[in-house]
Amino acid sequence: MKGVAAHLDAADAATPASAPAEPRLRVTEIFHSLQGEADAVGWPTVFVRLTGCPLRCVWCDTEYSFHGGTWRTFADVLAEVASHGARHVCVTGGEPLSQKRCLALLTQLCDDGYEVSLETSGALDVAEVDARVRKVVDLKAPGSGEVARNLWSNLDALRPHDQLKIVIADRTDYEWARECVAGHRLSERCQVLFSPVHGRVAPRELAEWILADRLPVRMQLQLHKLLWGSEPGR
Ligand code: SF4
Repeated sequence: MKGVAAHLDAADAATPASAPAEPRLRVTEIFHSLQGEADAVGWPTVFVRLTGCPLRCVWCDTEYSFHGGTWRTFADVLAEVASHGARHVCVTGGEPLSQKRCLALLTQLCDDGYEVSLETSGALDVAEVDARVRKVVDLKAPGSGEVARNLWSNLDALRPHDQLKIVIADRTDYEWARECVAGHRLSERCQVLFSPVHGRVAPRELAEWILADRLPVRMQLQLHKLLWGSEPGR
């Protein structure tokens, strides 16, 4: 985590002294699509995918965001967002919070009147995220390979409009998630979303587990995957 952030900041600091000191972010892509998950599912949304992630979830479907990208000024990012004419903006990654200027971008988007959401791994501190932003915070289950990265103090930074998302790869993940819901009283904090890993758990099987246990969680399937598969920019 720190390695990625430090790398990105160091690269930015390499800007020649004569260049304008405009804040910049490393951006993998900006695109217009339908929100595929969480509370805003189905809304036309502009996605700002920031580059870099300190995690390596085994089922990650956005590995192309780990490296590369383009340094872009806030003004450039905001202009492209505005060009799509959508009310909803989702800042995602990678892990967007691995670039500390992400916080300022989120606030600027809120100030500009957008409905703003943030998709974050749950491994980095979300306490400083603008309160107007709807945070979608992952809890990494064992099957991700990154369960040790969960930053549990993030639970105390959640607001009722936020969402916790647990991606389930198998029955072991499901039972871990069920224990989290009970042990941390997750559903009293905000909405809790369970999502199956494509090709690992049949959606119907996960649905039946949730119903059998009467869990106070919301199951979701990724709408964009149903519509477009794993195509980048969708
Ligand atoms: S946190 Fe997200 S972007 Fe990073 S490896 Fe995991 S799934 Fe991929």
